[in-house]
Amino acid sequence: MSLNKVSKERTLECHRCWVDLDKKEIDIFGPNIIIDICPKCNGIWLDKGELGKLLKDRKLTDYLTKHIGTKSRSPMICPKCSMTMDIERADDVEVDVCLTCGGVWLDQGELEALKSKSEEGFKGDELAKEEELNEERRYKARNSSLNKFLKKLTR
Ligand SMILES: [Zn+2]
Ligand SMILES: [Zn+2]
Repeated sequence: MSLNKVSKERTLECHRCWVDLDKKEIDIFGPNIIIDICPKCNGIWLDKGELGKLLKDRKLTDYLTKHIGTKSRSPMICPKCSMTMDIERADDVEVDVCLTCGGVWLDQGELEALKSKSEEGFKGDELAKEEELNEERRYKARNSSLNKFLKKLTR
């Protein structure tokens, strides 16, 4: 029995409606990108790197998928690795990004919405990003002062 092989090639499930995702090749934005799409809610799962290929906007892609912090604000779990996801915002568009594998979940219409953000020349909300980075810093600082405190106790 090779369970590994089976689990590697398993069909992904939509974690909103719990049905299997369909594989679909799309060529509207570029050739040969296979995406996983939910037949029920039309949500799309994109592996790491696929969002960039679809949007052809590295800045926006980086903005959404890099420096995503450590805290999860999304109730969703990753369809691929079952780890927690975080909500990232491009203006009024909210996408779920996996903190572990970097994959992205887009609800119906969000890909189009991101596309138009990109065409509008969305620069990224520096303020919101800054807040997120600060939160990460505070989290690390809290942890390190806790560590110092614990060290004192054990000394
Ligand atoms: Zn679904
Ligand atoms: Zn994941």
